[in-house]
Amino acid sequence: MKLKILTFKRKTIVVFLLCIIAIGGLFGAYYSVKASAMPKYSHTIVIDAGHGGRDGGAIGKVTGVTESELNLMYAKQLAKLCQDFGIKAVLTRSDMNGLYDENAQNKKKSEMEKRKKIINSSGADVMVSIHMNSFPLSSSEGAQVFYAKGSDNGFNLAKSVQTNICQVFKSARDFVTVGDYYVINTASMPAILVECGFLSNPNEERLLKSKDYCEKFCYSILAGVISYFQM
Ligand SMILES: [Zn+2]
Repeated sequence: MKLKILTFKRKTIVVFLLCIIAIGGLFGAYYSVKASAMPKYSHTIVIDAGHGGRDGGAIGKVTGVTESELNLMYAKQLAKLCQDFGIKAVLTRSDMNGLYDENAQNKKKSEMEKRKKIINSSGADVMVSIHMNSFPLSSSEGAQVFYAKGSDNGFNLAKSVQTNICQVFKSARDFVTVGDYYVINTASMPAILVECGFLSNPNEERLLKSKDYCEKFCYSILAGVISYFQM
């Protein structure tokens, strides 16, 4: 009886040890695959979703969608695509909260300073600020890319992104524009502001809200950023 118990115990121990070795091997294989699949970032992009918190930005006339929520949707989509392509993405905001200090007297000033601080401490090679446009004339449509006056690299980045957007979206403007915006004026790296389309145009509002449109649009921005990096 004793001997049987001992044999049983020995067998159990052997099976148990074999299991540990097998599980260990599996984990080892898993982690080595994980380690080799870890992206080695070649570049970093900082993506700025405009507005947020009490500042919703432009509002869609038909559905009431706010610019701040669409900006966040596009910023997150672009960040995901960048990460998938081995470009590290830093977001200035990743939720619907505003960037301002709740106790600040001047919330707009507080927000812009925070935005600038995140952008310039991100260590990014380029900055892309995402916005949605609005205009009294509801027929106005199409994406526009802005860069800061006097920035040659900003111009090159804008040109590259606009060219790629135009290849997919016929409504997009086929030229880039100097824009006097705080985020691109104060960014320490080549920076652009992308107005993805007009929320004041009912048809474009509907398109901008669509996940497919958002993904296609962000792919175009990414393609433009990649070809800028390759210049
Ligand atoms: Zn805006």
